Amino acid sequence: MNDNNSVTKKICEILGNTSRKACVRSFGCQLNVSDGEKIKGLLSDMGCDFTDDETEADIIILNTCAVRESAEDRIFGILGSMKKLKELKPSLIIGVSGCMTAQSHAAEKIRKSYPHVSFVMGTSAISSLPKLLLDCIQGTKFASDISEYDDFSATVRQVRESSFKASVPIMFGCNNFCTYCIVPYVRGRERSRQPDDIINEVRELVQNGYKEIMLLGQNVNSYGSDLGGKMSFPQLLRELDAIDGDFIIRFMSSHPKDATTELIDAIFECGKVAKHLHLPLQSGSSSVLERMNRRYTAEKYLETVDCIRQRDPDFSLTTDIIVGFPNETDGEFRATLDIMKRVEYDNIYSFIYSKRSGTKAAEMEDMTSEEEKSCRMRELLAVQREISSEHYKRFIGRTMRVLVDDVSKKREGFLTGKSSEFIIVEFEGEPSLIGSFAQVKITEAMNWAVRGELIK
Ligand code: SF4
Repeated sequence: MNDNNSVTKKICEILGNTSRKACVRSFGCQLNVSDGEKIKGLLSDMGCDFTDDETEADIIILNTCAVRESAEDRIFGILGSMKKLKELKPSLIIGVSGCMTAQSHAAEKIRKSYPHVSFVMGTSAISSLPKLLLDCIQGTKFASDISEYDDFSATVRQVRESSFKASVPIMFGCNNFCTYCIVPYVRGRERSRQPDDIINEVRELVQNGYKEIMLLGQNVNSYGSDLGGKMSFPQLLRELDAIDGDFIIRFMSSHPKDATTELIDAIFECGKVAKHLHLPLQSGSSSVLERMNRRYTAEKYLETVDCIRQRDPDFSLTTDIIVGFPNETDGEFRATLDIMKRVEYDNIYSFIYSKRSGTKAAEMEDMTSEEEKSCRMRELLAVQREISSEHYKRFIGRTMRVLVDDVSKKREGFLTGKSSEFIIVEFEGEPSLIGSFAQVKITEAMNWAVRGELIK
């Protein structure tokens, strides 16, 4: 990898002190948003300011998502509309990064069909951005780097969106190959960052006033499996919990097949670790889970839930559910509803199965109609609304510690934030509280949040 400092220096020499603006649009998951913050870090080192207005920009980077084909179609649509911008400003540099470009066919389609695009950059090639930009500035018609690197661009400074909540990727890639998922093909094999790099980064963030640390990975539970036993994820949680400061640790995503008792012990024994676990179920039917290659059964999943609930019957769980996986029968769908009623999630993120070319599931025959799938989705959401409106009542009368996020978009004079249980809490208060922890006495429960009074 080139020495970015000298490349950055060269770019600044060529472009001089003229002010230059960059527009970085990130799509998709938190890992991609975190990559977008790194891209901004590199651009900021090259003297760029930022704008959300593409007509003002000298450099535009679309940091793409490829989890669904519709996400890719949307990007091609946006790229098409950018042709005009390039005609109006020939010096404009347009680049595409993220999961979409990690697929050689997509990178090739961009090169061939969108000649106004200057470069493409793969998910692990972020550190090559200065070199790609220098090539473009020096006249290269189309620059590209979609190779797989292992450096995680860990040393790249991040221009973070929030001044009190920080995402910290701890690993990249995925080895699980769930049959509906493109991620292993665009983000490569699992690679864990060195524990010291993560611990030092978190310590520095906490010293700089960050209150929430969100540890990110496609499957954080398998963190360290490639580090020769140096450190496991539960051990990493304990190391981070030992850092001085008043902050909360969250993590996403956890694969149920790797949710061990060591992990559950760490969650309960570490004071700074949120008392919430996002445990993607995807389906409540073991036969569908097998077709998804999830490598756990519904029974095994419930064993993990019971292990947690034995420690705390009220422990907050959330999940992801796919409705309408190829040939899902009505019985298999009802198995999902049964697990939802049994587990009583505080929230679910649900999706109708969407065919993604390049995945195994895309080859599967599917006789279930889209109409039937939409009908199931409506039923699933209705069941969850019932569960949440009942389950949230357990918080009434309790005092919850809330990290205040923002002013409420629903009620004038109200603030909103999240509790350790990842529950949305609304209460009356001054915006000066944003970014700090507040104690709130809960007086009311809805099916999407709770409301309360600030305890001065
Ligand atoms: S665990 Fe499965 S769904 Fe999650 S990123 Fe890996 S392959 Fe995709």
